[in-house]
Amino acid sequence: MKLPKARELVEAIKALIVGPYTSKFPYKPHVPYKSFRGQPKYDPDKCVGCLACEQVCPAEAIGHEDITDGGEAKRVMYHYTDTCIFCGTCELACIADNEGIKLSNDWELAFFDRKTESFETIDKELQLCEICGEVIACKDHLRWISERIGELSFSSPTLYYSKLKELGVIDENIVSALRDSGRSDRFKILCARCRRETTLT
Ligand code: SF4
Ligand code: SF4
Repeated sequence: MKLPKARELVEAIKALIVGPYTSKFPYKPHVPYKSFRGQPKYDPDKCVGCLACEQVCPAEAIGHEDITDGGEAKRVMYHYTDTCIFCGTCELACIADNEGIKLSNDWELAFFDRKTESFETIDKELQLCEICGEVIACKDHLRWISERIGELSFSSPTLYYSKLKELGVIDENIVSALRDSGRSDRFKILCARCRRETTLT
């Protein structure tokens, strides 16, 4: 009979005294280690919808869809559980102080229906060009930029009009007065192309 090695004996004695390494899951809930890299989760209050995480994700486990019809303008951000490799690159690249998406301790990721349960989503409100209706960015992203660059945002009408609207300084009466085209176009929230055209004309 082959005798156990000294290291194996030590491990066996340790297991007898402090218990085995394995947990009793599913009879007892399993608590992962503190630094466990589990399912990344969006924080809808912190995420600004910039898409940086989507661009850096090596597994293409993040996607988005811009919905601009049916009276709503929103960006739906998707995280695909079945594609994610839990590398944490999205968290590292997140412009919202790495808090828009974060790895969690969530490891129980089994699901029955891939079509409806293999992803998580959050919605962000979109800002559309007030002339052509093109997507400019998420409203939170514009706010984030103007907060970062401070008074420099006064060099971009789109940024400071967004800010003024958010502060309630431009109310709906003024906005409706600006619906005419012409010089008043300069006082609208515009995409880069419409801003160029209104400036030239
Ligand atoms: S953890 Fe890695 S693979 Fe998963 S969504 Fe983030 S960047 Fe993509
Ligand atoms: S704020 Fe962070 S989580 Fe949100 S879209 Fe940008 S990078 Fe992704």
